[in-house]
Amino acid sequence: MIPALSSMRRIVIKIGSSTIADIDHASVRTAWLEAFAEDIAALRAKGCEVVLVSSGAVALGRPILKLGRKALELPEKQAAAACGQIMLMAAWKHALAAHHIHTAQLLVTLDDSENRKRYLNVRNTFETLLSHGIIPIVNENDTVTTAEIRFGDNDRLAARVAAMISADACVLLSDIDGLYTKNPKLHADAEHIAEILAISPEIEAMGEGPSSTTSHGGMTTKLIAAKIATAAGCHLVIAQGDGLHPIAALENKAKASWFYAPESPLSARKHWIAGALQ
Ligand code: GLU
Repeated sequence: MIPALSSMRRIVIKIGSSTIADIDHASVRTAWLEAFAEDIAALRAKGCEVVLVSSGAVALGRPILKLGRKALELPEKQAAAACGQIMLMAAWKHALAAHHIHTAQLLVTLDDSENRKRYLNVRNTFETLLSHGIIPIVNENDTVTTAEIRFGDNDRLAARVAAMISADACVLLSDIDGLYTKNPKLHADAEHIAEILAISPEIEAMGEGPSSTTSHGGMTTKLIAAKIATAAGCHLVIAQGDGLHPIAALENKAKASWFYAPESPLSARKHWIAGALQ
């Protein structure tokens, strides 16, 4: 049976660029964000600890640099992220402050999760923030990463964070409501899969490449994220994020795909090694 999200003690929620940013108007989707903040306040009222992984820096920064929708070179991406990240955080701070929730910004790189000393350091920061009731808001530190040391997508970053802090669930809010047997945008007969007990080669074959210019993670990166999270004992959910109140919708059993963690997860150190991307 599909569990209630609010029955999970610690939850990581990843928000995709096109969910938080109105790409055409170069702005934050304020009505969406306000509704989402209500969802988060409701989860916390039920005793859940929440960590957010928010994309959107590059999408919000693009118009400032007049970059349109073209494919970006790395320095352009980094400059756009530098401009957009402060807009993103200002919006998060404002939306959650309305519910008397404090926020903190954590910008991490692949290195921070691959190097054990830095990994433990970041983990301690998360624990300290959570113990003070603060919501950590994570993004990749886009301005300092090179192509070789980037996560590149926040799906895997969210799963890595979930593993790092022993979260019970990791929710990837996206423009698609889960895993389908084929890409549903291309195939009318694609079937939705609500529950996945093991990521078999057959399941892996269902992921296809990215389908949008604003978000970097297609189904492929979501499946990798599902592997990282479930190996660490954390359930991973792919759910539609674009509508208002996506978390309340998930609580009310909206269509989504749940990848279940096995009963006996690997020990913390083993899953750190297993989840290493490089
Ligand atoms: N870190 C990127 C940003 O904030 C997003 C990466 C992604 O879309 O997954 O713009």
